[in-house]
Amino acid sequence: MRFFITIFFCNFAALNFDQPHQTQYPFLIEKMLPVDFIDSMTDVFPTELDAFCRALREPPVVSIRLNDKCAGSDLEVMRDSDGRVPWTTDGYYLTHRPAFTLDPLLHAGCYYVQDASSMFLEHVLRHNLQPQSVVLDLCAAPGGKATLISRFLGEQGLLVANEVVRQRVFVLSENIQKWGNGNTVVTHNQPAVFSSLLPYAFDCMVVDAPCSGEGMFRKDEKAVDEWSLDNVKMCQQRQKQILTDAWGCLKPGGLLVYSTCTFNPLENEQVAHFIADELGAEYVSVPIEPQWGIQETYGYHFYPHKVRGEGLYMAVFRKRSVPFLSPKLKLDKRRISGKVEQESLLRSWLKNPDKWAIRQTERFTNAYPAKFKELIDYISSCFTCISVGFGLSELRGRMPAPQHSLSMAKDFRQEMFKTVELDLPTALSYLRCEAIVLDQCPIGFLLLTYKNIPLGFTKNIGNHCNNLYPKEWRIRKAE
Ligand code: SAM
Repeated sequence: MRFFITIFFCNFAALNFDQPHQTQYPFLIEKMLPVDFIDSMTDVFPTELDAFCRALREPPVVSIRLNDKCAGSDLEVMRDSDGRVPWTTDGYYLTHRPAFTLDPLLHAGCYYVQDASSMFLEHVLRHNLQPQSVVLDLCAAPGGKATLISRFLGEQGLLVANEVVRQRVFVLSENIQKWGNGNTVVTHNQPAVFSSLLPYAFDCMVVDAPCSGEGMFRKDEKAVDEWSLDNVKMCQQRQKQILTDAWGCLKPGGLLVYSTCTFNPLENEQVAHFIADELGAEYVSVPIEPQWGIQETYGYHFYPHKVRGEGLYMAVFRKRSVPFLSPKLKLDKRRISGKVEQESLLRSWLKNPDKWAIRQTERFTNAYPAKFKELIDYISSCFTCISVGFGLSELRGRMPAPQHSLSMAKDFRQEMFKTVELDLPTALSYLRCEAIVLDQCPIGFLLLTYKNIPLGFTKNIGNHCNNLYPKEWRIRKAE
């Protein structure tokens, strides 16, 4: 085996890296794959190990998923499109990796940069779930799968996107707000809280579990450095614990999607058997086309030498029936004020005002789906909620101002604000939270657009504008 590895790395040196990604991933050339990892893959790939390891040394595939809120717009990124990701409706391969950070349309939520394999979730949902469902994405940050689920549910369903790690939950909330559907509540709670406070509440639970990250080897140098057999075993224990803790919130007959970005059977097939045998679930087969290169074992594997995408494993189950208990909703009215100031003005900012319930806290006023008002009010009263639906207005000092996430919302009625179209340098300046000057523009709140897509609000006070772009979201990198 060790002899093979030496040969493998010698061959590797001869590979042609004359591709645009090369300079962005120099560690691919320098880094060695962990020997124990390659050893452990010999059972998985008795005849294809060479091809598998070579593929892990190649640059990652670049793909994006478009947001239907920007449908019909002039998305330049589409010009680089290298074909549709075959198991999706909105996923596209790109021929190269552009400087995404410098594209204002990324910040406007027109697309999400997501690995093509991960988009398989759309195919799974399309075949197994109605859009009018209540879905929990338990391990949701930074929000790739959550934005995909939000798109699938549209205005018919509700998504609870949860992230347990505090530093990551705000990025999740940012991405959800930029996506703009308003059908999502972002929470920051331990998995067990869902079973105890929302028993049998969800039609579907997605557990995209923390894992040893083998499928990230092409993208992330740290994943290679941190890999060890002990870590794989520790990850398996944690995955089983997360699933066990949250299992009680899934309805009998509800759909569970379990995924990791690893190749090893410990974190994949073994956990899948645990779900079926110990938790009590039926394995669900999903139709796949042979030309996609996806391999079904017990679950679906995306191997980098077979699929145009990164390493992924996904398995689908239906929870076996157990006696049904309906959750008792106890509203904590102290945290949900009934009175909303200037409600009719706020509703006039929406295309479909009747679809939204409106809530006001001390500083913020938010819109969230009226259809799920009772459930969302309950969640708001007893979970740690980071965002609920989308923002309408906020108090800045003592004056109300439109919230940024209003400008990102699909249901936002743009014509209610005076609009100023920005060129690229001014748009980037705005997104860096710099002071911009808008000569000969009306005084007051203005909606700023780039390529006619809303970027956010500013308050023009004559000689300069107050930049209302969220400071925490600003572009920091000088790319
Ligand atoms: N679903 C995300 C997406 O598509 O963008 C990626 C999720 S990532 C693979 C796994 C997530 O699980 C991380 O955000 C991590 O912080 C979170 N996590 C870590 N430990 C956890 C735990 N004990 N319980 C639940 N989630 C955990």
